[in-house]
Amino acid sequence: MAQGIPDEVMTNTSLIKELADVAKDEALLQGVLMRTQETPNSSELVTYAPFTLFPSPVPKAVFLQALAVQTYYNTLVDKISQDTDFLQNALASTIEVDDFTARLFRIHQQILKEGKSQSVVLGLNRSDYMLDQSKDKMSSLKQIEINTFAASFGGLSSRTPDVHRHILKVAGRFEESQRILDNNPAIGLARAAAKAWELYGSERAVVMFLVEDVQRNIFDQRYIESELWKKNISTIRKRFDDVYKTGSLDQNKRLFVDGKEVAVVYFRNGYMPQNYISEQSWDARLMMERSLAVKCPDISTHLAGTKKVQQVLARPGVLENFFPGQPQVVEQIRATFAGLYTLDMGPEGDKTVAMALAAPDQFVLKPQREGGGNNIYGSEICQVLEGVKDNTERTAYILMDKINPTPVQNYLLRRDGPLTISNCLSELGVFGAYVRQGKEMVLNECVGHLLRTKSSEHSDGGVAAGVAVLDNPLLI
Ligand code: ADP
Ligand code: MG
Repeated sequence: MAQGIPDEVMTNTSLIKELADVAKDEALLQGVLMRTQETPNSSELVTYAPFTLFPSPVPKAVFLQALAVQTYYNTLVDKISQDTDFLQNALASTIEVDDFTARLFRIHQQILKEGKSQSVVLGLNRSDYMLDQSKDKMSSLKQIEINTFAASFGGLSSRTPDVHRHILKVAGRFEESQRILDNNPAIGLARAAAKAWELYGSERAVVMFLVEDVQRNIFDQRYIESELWKKNISTIRKRFDDVYKTGSLDQNKRLFVDGKEVAVVYFRNGYMPQNYISEQSWDARLMMERSLAVKCPDISTHLAGTKKVQQVLARPGVLENFFPGQPQVVEQIRATFAGLYTLDMGPEGDKTVAMALAAPDQFVLKPQREGGGNNIYGSEICQVLEGVKDNTERTAYILMDKINPTPVQNYLLRRDGPLTISNCLSELGVFGAYVRQGKEMVLNECVGHLLRTKSSEHSDGGVAAGVAVLDNPLLI
């Protein structure tokens, strides 16, 4: 392993077995927890969240680059969310064919028509990257996507550094152990949420986590809740159904759920069509959007995180419009863009189709979906494009250059999984947090990182999807 864990450790099977046992105990001790698949809504039975036995090497320069650009990404997302014309133009072709995005867009339009009732916006996002390996062995930071909605693992990633430090020490690697960085996104995310709560301005009001029906990953959220409680801010956890049944707006559009006034709605559910199990879920979403509560994210920030918007941002001149007179900011953001291509009807989209069909292995075809497992790779790109290329259905997708990170060997520890060495690829996430009040950014921070690693056999899928596992960067 290049400048990471030496081969004599990686291939020592009895040591690996011993380390894996120690690692699982340490993960449980440190609270790197997940509920089990069998009992996802009870904490009577818990297990460790899947993680790598060893931290994975990440070049220091690109790591620092990812941290440095984060506050600019926060600003960018926030500016997009306020630019009605931009969102309208960027998503025009998408909403013709993608029902889910169209539905979100209709809520956005309704809110604009009524006028936004709350001038405070809370943004908690995560920008994800892979390190593209070029021929000259330099790795360059390329953004996979930015998650403006329910970006997860800020809680658990606050607990993983101590686990990897411990494993490395038990393996006799004291020097590497000191190179594992401190990381605590939970504190930073909670700090921003607390600021939004404070600006809302009611001691009695609570921060409501809008949660999933199936809550395996509850501990990740509990860390943020705990940080809020430490600040004497009450939190509640509610589902769409709870909001529908017990929620209401008063004449000032204050949101009450189960008798409690809600200062901040923090959405951890609602990014997939399946999350809206009935029309009532949509009614609940609309009620929250219309309310005086601070939304994280609000509907327009949700739309700013779509893959179509990401593709439009990569067009020449678009970033410049968001950062007039700030060429160095534009340059820093653009340096992280991979090639992104439109599939809109017309000659440019036709060119994209031809390019993808000619070399499908060099691209990823992406629909407007979140949560892992939706992207299309390799020969399947041809199958899908052949079916849609002559009609507007193709505009539901964007095309992206495939990023090729260098595989690194590691062991992925997951409950009941075999202890085998795998070729792995990593994805670096950086957490951003901001609060805006009217025109003024009152908080804009980079609050930590997340490294996720998966076996290179899988082209797609995150930790929640059961593909990737938690990791830590070992800076080299
Ligand atoms: P989702 O919203 O489903 O998380 P992503 O765009 O993050 O969608 O893609 C899911 C996964 O697919 C990523 O975590 C990454 O492993 C893989 N992936 C996405 N885009 C690319 C790309 N351009 N090159 C290589 N892998 C990619
Ligand atoms: Mg993703």
